[in-house]
Amino acid sequence: MKRIFKFFSFLIILSLFTAIKIRASIAVTSLTVRFEKDTAQYTISAIEQEGVLYVSLAEFSDVLGFGRFFNPKNKKMVVRMGNRAVKVSAFNPFLMVQETVKQMPLPAIEIRNELYVPLGIFLETLAGDFPYQSTFQPENKILTLWKIQYNIKNYTLEHKKNGLVIHLHTLRTFNPNEVAVALTQGWLHVTVYGGTLDTLAIFSNTPSGIVQKVLSYQFDHSAQISFLLTQQIQEKRVTCFSNRIEIALWYSERVPPMKVEAPVLPDVKNKWVIDAIVIDPGHGGKDPGAIGSSGTKEKEITLAIATRLKTLLENRLPNTRIELTRTSDTFVELEKRRQFANGRGAKLFISIHVNANTQRSLRGFSTYVLGVAKTKEAIEVAQKENSIVELEKTSDAYAEFQATEYILNAIAQNMFLKESQDLAREINTAVRQYTNMTLDRGVYQAGFLVLLGLNMPAVLVEAGYISNPAEERLLKTRTFQQKIAEALCEGIVKFKKQCEWAMK
Ligand SMILES: [Zn+2]
Repeated sequence: MKRIFKFFSFLIILSLFTAIKIRASIAVTSLTVRFEKDTAQYTISAIEQEGVLYVSLAEFSDVLGFGRFFNPKNKKMVVRMGNRAVKVSAFNPFLMVQETVKQMPLPAIEIRNELYVPLGIFLETLAGDFPYQSTFQPENKILTLWKIQYNIKNYTLEHKKNGLVIHLHTLRTFNPNEVAVALTQGWLHVTVYGGTLDTLAIFSNTPSGIVQKVLSYQFDHSAQISFLLTQQIQEKRVTCFSNRIEIALWYSERVPPMKVEAPVLPDVKNKWVIDAIVIDPGHGGKDPGAIGSSGTKEKEITLAIATRLKTLLENRLPNTRIELTRTSDTFVELEKRRQFANGRGAKLFISIHVNANTQRSLRGFSTYVLGVAKTKEAIEVAQKENSIVELEKTSDAYAEFQATEYILNAIAQNMFLKESQDLAREINTAVRQYTNMTLDRGVYQAGFLVLLGLNMPAVLVEAGYISNPAEERLLKTRTFQQKIAEALCEGIVKFKKQCEWAMK
C-alpha cells in the first residue's frame, strides 16, 4: 500500500513538473495552411516550444476535413484520415494507426484541454498513411498540401469459366520483373516494386466470385495486394500493359472449391504476444564463417554474443521462452534453423553474425531484414551469409532457393516486413545508445536464406567487421560482446513493449 502511494505521489509530482515546464517555455503563434491550386488559406493555432512547432490537432483536422473525436478524460483524440483511424494521446509519443503503432521522437502535448502535435514529426511519422504530401516554409510558417498521386489506382476482377483475371489499374507502366506473384494457403500475394497504392479505393472496392477478401499494404519501396481465393489455382501469368498489370489465374481441374481454413494472416492479437524468442548464432562446426586477420572466427563471436543475449533476455523477460538454434560449436543447416524457429512458435527471430569485407577499413554495426537488396553492399552481405548452403550435405534442396524468382516470391509472402523493420530500427537505436565503440551503418534489406519462410518478425545483425583489425580486437573482448548483447536486448524489449502497447 505504501509503495502504491509512493508511486502515485511520484506521478503527481512528475505531472506537475511537466505542466509547469510546458507553460514556462511556450510561445503562441499560428500556422497557415494552403492547398495547391487553391487560393484559400486557413490559419490554425500553433505554439512553439524549444524550436518545435506544435499545431492544434483539432483545428488541423477540421481544415483537412478529417472527422475527429476527443475524449477529454484520457486526453485521446481519434482522427479519421481517409480509411485510417489515427489515435493520438497527450504526453505520449505513440500513434496508433489502425492496428499498428508508430512512434514519434517527441510526444503530443495538451494545453487547456487541446491536443497539440509536433507538426513536422507528426507528418513524417504518418508518411504513407497521411493522404497529402506537403512542403513547409519555416520563415512565414506556411504549410502547402497536395493530394498524393498514386500509381496503382484500383483493381477489377474478370471472372471466366476456367479462371480469373485480376486487373491492377496503374498510372505508369510497370516492368514484369517489378511484379512478384505468390500463392500460399489460399492467398495470392501480388507485390509491385515502386508501387504506390490508393489504399482507400482498394479498401472501398468489393471482392466478388472466388475472391473472398482483399488486403493492401503500402511499404517504403513496394506495394502489396493480397487476394484470398476460394478456388485452387493451377497456373498463373503476369502481363504488364501501359496502364494496367494483368494477372491471369487458371483453376485446377476437377478440384472442388477449397475450404479456406488457414489464412496466412495470423490473428492480430496473437501475433503481438511475444512469448517466445529464438536467437540464432550464425555459422558453427565445419562452417567457421568469416575469419579475422588474427584468426578470430565469426562462429565463436556469434555464439558468445547470443549466449549473453539469452541470459539478459531471460532476466528482463521472465515470461518469455528464449531459445538458441545452437548452444555449442556445431554445424546447423539454414533450413533447420528456420524449421526450429517456426516449430517452436517463436514470435521474434534474431540471427547474429559479424561482417567481413575485402576493404579492411570498413567498420560498424548494421541490421538486415528480408527484402530486395538495393545496394551493392547489401547484396554482397547476403551472398556471404548464404554461402553456408554450399557446405550443407543436402545442397540440392537449395537449388530452387538460388532462383531469384523464388526469393522474390518468398519476399512477397513476407507478412512481417513492417514489424521486422520496426524491430531493426529499435535495435540500431539501442546500439547507438549503448555503445560508442561502433558505428551505426543503418538498416538494410537483402535476400537472406536464413530469414526466408519465417512466420514472425525477423532480423539479421552484423555486429561489426571482423575484417577490420581494430574491430576484430574489439569483437573478441567480453566487454564489447556484453555491450552488443545489452543493446540487442534493449532493442528487443522496446519492440516487445511497442507490440504490447498496440494490443491495448
Ligand atoms: Zn555470418
